[in-house]
Amino acid sequence: MKFYSTNNKDLQLDIKDAVIKGLASDNGLFMPENIPELQKKVIDNLKSMTLTEIAFEVLNLYFTPTVPDAKLKEIIDDALNFDIPLKNVEGNINVLELFHGPTSAFKDVGARFLARVLSWFVKDMGQDVYVLAATSGDTGGAVANGFVDVPGIKVVVLYPSGMVSDRQERQFTTLGRNITALEVKGTFDDCQRLVKSAFLDKELNKKIFLTSANSINIARLLPQVVYYFFAFAQLKDKNKDIAIAVPSGNFGNLTAGLIASKMGLPVKRFIAATNINDVVPEYLNTGKYNPRTSVQTLANAMDVGDPSNFVRILDLFNKQLENIKKTVTGYVVDDMQIRKTIKEVFDKTGYVLDPHGACGFESLKTQLSDVEQGIFLATAHPAKFPDVVEEQINQKVEMPETMKQFMDKQKQKTEISSSFDDFKNFLLKKQ
Ligand SMILES: *Cc1c(COP(=O)(O)O)cnc(C)c1O
Repeated sequence: MKFYSTNNKDLQLDIKDAVIKGLASDNGLFMPENIPELQKKVIDNLKSMTLTEIAFEVLNLYFTPTVPDAKLKEIIDDALNFDIPLKNVEGNINVLELFHGPTSAFKDVGARFLARVLSWFVKDMGQDVYVLAATSGDTGGAVANGFVDVPGIKVVVLYPSGMVSDRQERQFTTLGRNITALEVKGTFDDCQRLVKSAFLDKELNKKIFLTSANSINIARLLPQVVYYFFAFAQLKDKNKDIAIAVPSGNFGNLTAGLIASKMGLPVKRFIAATNINDVVPEYLNTGKYNPRTSVQTLANAMDVGDPSNFVRILDLFNKQLENIKKTVTGYVVDDMQIRKTIKEVFDKTGYVLDPHGACGFESLKTQLSDVEQGIFLATAHPAKFPDVVEEQINQKVEMPETMKQFMDKQKQKTEISSSFDDFKNFLLKKQ
C-alpha cells in the first residue's frame, strides 16, 4: 500500500518512508491511498478475539509486506501490553477506558506502537534520528516513555510553559537519558509551529535527521483504529445503532474512528466533542473553517486552535461538508459544564471522569437517543487532573501505580523562546 500527501495525491511513499518522514516534504500529512475493509468474517468474529489479535488483523492491511508478520506481531504485543476495557456507566452510555498504559492517557497506544515501528525502520541507518514532539499535555509523556532507551533515537519534547499540569510535566521531564524537554515561552500552537518549521528548514535537515511523533505521524494514527474495533467487540448490545463520542483536540483520535468506520466498523455516527476551542464544531455548523489561537481550558490536552488532522478528515469525505455532516456532529463543552458533569456523574453513578472524558460523556449524553447505544472515549485517567476532579467529587482520586513512579524524580528541562532561530540553534548545538 502507498501513502499519499494530503497536499498532493501524486506524492506517494511506502509505509516505511512515510513513517520515517512523519510529515510529507510538501508539508502535507500522509494518508493511505485507499482504506481497506476488514473481512466480514473477521468483523463477525471480533467478540472472540483479543486486543492484540484484532490489532494484527487491522494493522497488517497497512504494514504488510514492509513489516514481516512475525515482526508486526512482536511490535503489537509489546506496544499494546495493557487493557482497554469497555464499561457501562449508566443506561445506554458506555465508556472505553484508554488510560491504562504507562502514562495514563490514550496517546500511549499510538506512541508505543510508533516507537517500536520507527526503531525497526531506522535500525540500519547509521545515524541518530531526532524525534520532535510538540505537546499540549499528554503527547510528551506518551512519546518520551514510548521511546525512552530505544537505541539510535533522541527525543525532543516541546511544551508550552505553564500550560501543562505538574503530573503531565513530570512524565517527560524526569526521564533524562535520550529524552530532552524544552519549555517554550508560548502556546501549544507555537510549539507545533516550531516543529513544522524545523521540518521545512533546509540547513537543519541537511545536518540532522528529523522526524515527528505527533498525531500527524501515520504510525501513531493507525494503531488507534484498533481500539474502535475492540470497543465494538466488547459491546453487549450490538444490534442498536451505535454512536461514539470522541474528546478532540488535534482530531487524530476522531480520524482513527472514521477510518475504522470506513474499514467496516458498524457504527452509525460520531460526535466530535471539544472544549470551547470549537473550530471544528463551528465548521460543521457553518461550513466555515476559521483556525485561531487556542484558549486554555480544564481539558488542556484539547486546547488546539488549528487541528492538524482536520485535513485528513476532509480527505476521508472527499472534502464534502455534506458527507461529513452525515457521519459527524460537533458538540462544545465549556469549563463550567466540565465541572458540573464530573460532579453529577460521580454523584449519580460513582464513576470518576477526567475533564477530557467529561467532554465526551456530556456530548454523548446530550445527543444520544434512547434507541442508540453510546460509547465515549475516556482519554486520560482522572488522577492526572487532581485539582479539578477532587474538587468536584469531594474525595481523593487514587493514583495508578504507573503514575506514582514519576512523582519523586527530579524535573530536567531547558527554557527557550518561541522564535524559530532559538529552537534551530538548540538543535544544531545538540549535534
Ligand atoms: C491528546 C488528547 C486529546 C485529543 O486527542 P486528538 O487526537 O488530538 O484529538 C484528548 N484527551 C486527552 C487526554 C489527550 O491527551
